[in-house]
Amino acid sequence: MASYELAVIGSGPAGRRAAIQAAKLGRSVVVIENRLRVGGVSVHTGTIPSKTLRETVLNLSGWRERGFYGLSYRVKKDIEGKDLGARLRMTLDHEIEVLEHQFARNGVKTIGGVARFRDPNRLAVTDAAGETTEVEAARIVIAVGTRPFRPPHIPFNEETIVDSDTLVSNLRVPRSLTVIGAGVIGIEYATIFSALDVPVTLVEPRERFLEFVDREIIEEFQHDLRKRGVNFRIGCKLDHVEMGQDGKPVALLSDGRQIKSDMLLYAAGRIGATDGLGLDACGITPDDRGRLTVDPRTFQTSVPHIYAAGDVIGFPSLASTSMEQGRIAACHAFNAHMPPAPDFFPYGIYSVPEMSMVGLTEDEARARKISYESGIARFRETSRGHIMGLESGMMKLLFELGTRKLLGVHILGEGATELIHIGQAVLNLGGTLDYFVENTFNYPTLAEAYKIAALDAFNRMPAAASKAAS
Ligand SMILES: Cc1cc2nc3c(=O)[nH]c(=O)nc-3n(C[C@H](O)[C@H](O)[C@H](O)COP(=O)(O)OP(=O)(O)OC[C@H]3O[C@@H](n4cnc5c(N)ncnc54)[C@H](O)[C@@H]3O)c2cc1C
Repeated sequence: MASYELAVIGSGPAGRRAAIQAAKLGRSVVVIENRLRVGGVSVHTGTIPSKTLRETVLNLSGWRERGFYGLSYRVKKDIEGKDLGARLRMTLDHEIEVLEHQFARNGVKTIGGVARFRDPNRLAVTDAAGETTEVEAARIVIAVGTRPFRPPHIPFNEETIVDSDTLVSNLRVPRSLTVIGAGVIGIEYATIFSALDVPVTLVEPRERFLEFVDREIIEEFQHDLRKRGVNFRIGCKLDHVEMGQDGKPVALLSDGRQIKSDMLLYAAGRIGATDGLGLDACGITPDDRGRLTVDPRTFQTSVPHIYAAGDVIGFPSLASTSMEQGRIAACHAFNAHMPPAPDFFPYGIYSVPEMSMVGLTEDEARARKISYESGIARFRETSRGHIMGLESGMMKLLFELGTRKLLGVHILGEGATELIHIGQAVLNLGGTLDYFVENTFNYPTLAEAYKIAALDAFNRMPAAASKAAS
């Protein structure tokens, strides 16, 4: 039986980063992956496919140029599934090649097959041909991620009723789309297809969606989408789905309304991929959504030499945070020094328009009884915004009264997911409003919005709180 210092189950962002980190610490590492190729959900059905699709849609539809040339402007007139698929395949092949090379360069062994615990240190790995081998490891990282939640009463057929996996494996541009679930995935796909002028209806049972995003940003976002013709059915539950006589899905809602569309995307949640892991053989119990509980500082499960990282441990379920969790788990497993994690990490939502945020929202600042002032900049107030023909886009900064410390950054619009990192650096370094007021920014840039928003907050602050910035 092959024996390793670390076995990692799953080659997504968490598993990959744990494996590479352990290899860099000089440890023998094996990664077990049940897909044909490495990369996980992130590369095959999640992050990279959805972001490539978004980029392709924005380019082919001429979306970024419509502010100047009008709503009917197109780079390519009839955009079909095959136009979207071509770029996707090229991007995925390239990503996988980079990953395979990274594993090989660092001496990480990979085994294809489904891993299952035999006992707390032994895994049975069954490959596609049904052959089973055993792997023994002193430490194990469970990084198996999640899969879409597919309730039995939804008649998925992978053509007109799809989840986020089958949407990308069978790409087509529907004539109309119903999206069930206004979480990050539902919102991203709803707005990507809306940018292709597909009529979209979004159904969400909660009264508010993306509750972790600042309320004002969501209001602005929703206003933008309504102007574009996206229909919201907020506060409505999906009761069931029927097939119309023409073969099109009809969503029947709890309030009696019906939505007929060419395609229905069910994006209401994901569950941990732990059911086939044989966790009872090592004494770990998942929750009712298949997720595992860990010590948030070390990522150890209830069995100290078995770690879990990435989406399988739940919120925030991002590729970015999963990578960091995998790295911390590997460092802890092999007693490597770890500096404390920064206080705040950014969220990026690649909707059209995109959103990004770091730090506190207004609601959170109020709940913590922090006195604050906010400042807002509109992208159309910047010269770069004029040059780019931007009609929408905003940045909102929150500063603590008294200390003038930056508390939160909230951005909606072009470049939000890149721009956020300026705010993230200032926030995690404990910077204040003065940083933005006193520093020179490249001109013309969208980053100038930081200065405009900071000055806006400064102008609203009581004289005592704002005096140092004058
Ligand atoms: C549509 C979509 C869009 C997204 N967009 C973004 C984004 O823009 N930015 C962002 O940061 N995040 C995004 N995410 C989230 C991101 O993809 C996940 O956070 C990330 O993939 C989680 O990484 P992971 O390592 O936990 O697991 P995964 O990437 O899920 O990989 C786990 C791997 O383990 C394998 N596996 C499972 N069980 C076993 C077993 N028993 N034996 C062997 N192998 C097994 C799985 O097949 C899979 O390949 C998106 C997700 C989706 C679905």
